[in-house]
Amino acid sequence: MTMASPWPTASHIDPWQTHSTRIAAIADETEGVRSYRLRFDDAAVGDAFRFAAGQFNMLYVPGVGEAAISISSDPEDVGTLTHTVRAVGNVTDALARLTVGDQVFVRGPFGTPWPVDRVMDRDVVFVAGGLGLASQRSAILRAALPGTCRHATVLHGAKRPGELLYTGEYDAWRRAGVTVATIVDEGGPAWNGRCGLVTALLDDAIDDPARTTVLCCGPDPMMVGVAEKAIDMGVSIDAIFLSLERTMACAAAHCGLCQFGPLFVCRDGPVLRYDRIGLLMKVPRL
Ligand SMILES: Cc1cc2nc3c(=O)[nH]c(=O)nc-3n(C[C@H](O)[C@H](O)[C@H](O)COP(=O)(O)OP(=O)(O)OC[C@H]3O[C@@H](n4cnc5c(N)ncnc54)[C@H](O)[C@@H]3O)c2cc1C
Repeated sequence: MTMASPWPTASHIDPWQTHSTRIAAIADETEGVRSYRLRFDDAAVGDAFRFAAGQFNMLYVPGVGEAAISISSDPEDVGTLTHTVRAVGNVTDALARLTVGDQVFVRGPFGTPWPVDRVMDRDVVFVAGGLGLASQRSAILRAALPGTCRHATVLHGAKRPGELLYTGEYDAWRRAGVTVATIVDEGGPAWNGRCGLVTALLDDAIDDPARTTVLCCGPDPMMVGVAEKAIDMGVSIDAIFLSLERTMACAAAHCGLCQFGPLFVCRDGPVLRYDRIGLLMKVPRL
């Protein structure tokens, strides 16, 4: 089948096909958050499985159910996939009880990616609230490569310092030329960094708005705040992308659970341009 888009979508994979994987490694990230490296049982399936930064999989824990989880590994790391997961409910709690060698099934990849292949001459500002950084990590690894963009900045906000994600990787990102800045709501006595909302970090991060692309993932009110401030600073509305999170079941645009106005987040998103969704984001409880 001819690929109509440069990334894999539900229309040219079999969205119902599950692939068996085993947990190859587990890393504790922050309290209640772990990264799971999954290795495909069938190496040929693993070699053929391709995704673009920002896409997600449906992870199935046998006997429990499925949850939509972003792929946080580098798209070039073929054969394994990493997912960073917060234990918050049925499936993610069950995942947290698994150990290395246990079986997890994967359906995907689904959804639209971050536009990291279209920013060569632009400054890219990643803005992540909490676990939102998980959906951006694969794009950050791409943006850190020479020639992907003019300059990459990561702005990461969390409630507390212990909730900042991937802190062990910031030095490597910085060595690759990426600017990394963090901010927390409540610092505590040992924290000598900044306190406040992640939007406060935009002032220092955007110095050429006409050449800046903003990629944002986090709670809805935070994303609207980031988008509106970036627009006020002169960033074009069509250079702002948000990754939406909505409850999902089928991930193949059939069940309607993730419907957002005229859009299905599983098919049309999760990454959507702000000029397409800005008004919808302001509709209460949509
Ligand atoms: C595109 C996309 C990407 C995502 N990426 C990630 C990711 O990278 N990492 C990650 O951790 N999550 C991610 N999520 C979120 C994840 O899919 C949800 O948290 C999912 O609901 C978890 O499934 P679960 O079965 O563990 O939780 P659920 O059992 O569905 O519970 C989820 C939440 O609902 C609450 N809840 C459950 N049942 C009830 C009830 N009866 N009444 C009231 N509240 C209830 C729970 O307390 C919890 O807060 C993503 C979601 C989307 C759409």
